Amino acid sequence: MKEITLGKSKITTCQNAFGALPIQRVSDVEAVKILHRAYEGGMRFFDTARDYTDSEHKVGLAFSHMRDKVFIASKTIAKTPEKFWEDLETSLSMLKTDYLDLYQLHCVDKCYREDDDLYQCLLEAKRQGKIRHIGITAHKLGVAEEIAESGLYEVLQYPFSYLSSDREIELVKTCEKNDVGFLAMKGLAGGLITNSKAAMAFMTDYNVLPIWGVQRMSELEEWLSYMEDTPTMDEEITEFIEEERKALDGEFCRGCGYCMPCPMGIQINQCARIHLMIRRAPAEGWLGEYWQKEMENTKNCTGCGQCIEKCPYSLPVPDLLKENYEDYIDVLKGAAK
Ligand code: SF4
Ligand code: SF4
Repeated sequence: MKEITLGKSKITTCQNAFGALPIQRVSDVEAVKILHRAYEGGMRFFDTARDYTDSEHKVGLAFSHMRDKVFIASKTIAKTPEKFWEDLETSLSMLKTDYLDLYQLHCVDKCYREDDDLYQCLLEAKRQGKIRHIGITAHKLGVAEEIAESGLYEVLQYPFSYLSSDREIELVKTCEKNDVGFLAMKGLAGGLITNSKAAMAFMTDYNVLPIWGVQRMSELEEWLSYMEDTPTMDEEITEFIEEERKALDGEFCRGCGYCMPCPMGIQINQCARIHLMIRRAPAEGWLGEYWQKEMENTKNCTGCGQCIEKCPYSLPVPDLLKENYEDYIDVLKGAAK
């Protein structure tokens, strides 16, 4: 497994990092077991966020006694200096540490610059030694491009997988050119990618650090197996990815959930892409009573457009819901025959 240096931060680690969002869903004991196993298996970079409920607490439980052995990144969704400092102090206390290796403005809708209070907060936190490096996460390509060009951030976090567009691949190259570290989130495209070997092989072609969201030990073992036996873009994987890109061409929902909540209670992040889930994952669960009810609820969409404004890909959600509903009913009828 090769090593990646995250731009100007000079943080250097193997190209296989841990995303701590999903450990919110397991007990403290299980989370600590998973985190310790990740460390034993060679992972050194752990990404959490103030917004991931108790994830920071669990990372703190696992690593506070060996703080200097790991890199810990966290994030804040603060929009004011008061909230920034409150979040930073809470993160430090949850993580039982006096510094973060990387602190990121979380899911921004613009590139915060020198004349923005939040950017000044990052500089001040760095001056005080509470954070070592300055980062930012974005989901909108235009915003990410502006960040990559700005020279203001040491690290950018952005969704990246083998389903990324040519323009997104250009973004990675811009970051490399400008010495901005690139953290690749959503390397499995929100569950659409089920071939971890191909996902990992794709990353090895780029100067990015993938942070894989891990909830189960079995998932972790899959990622750890690539430490020794790192897949590469051989002929078979290249052909496979080509086929995948053709199959998922065009507008599709990545399942990120940034468009939610919907005032009508529609689970947009699954219902707007259920046609893919029933074909790419075991269909049984998706065709059960629970999802049938959720799909029926999509008929209550009023077309208010709130979701379209919030979707980083500006997807036409009401149309997607309608198409997915019609397809779902057809599949259900077929399954019932
Ligand atoms: S357009 Fe439909 S799905 Fe989107 S927020 Fe409004 S009601 Fe919900
Ligand atoms: S509609 Fe857009 S914001 Fe909502 S889950 Fe899908 S990709 Fe994400």
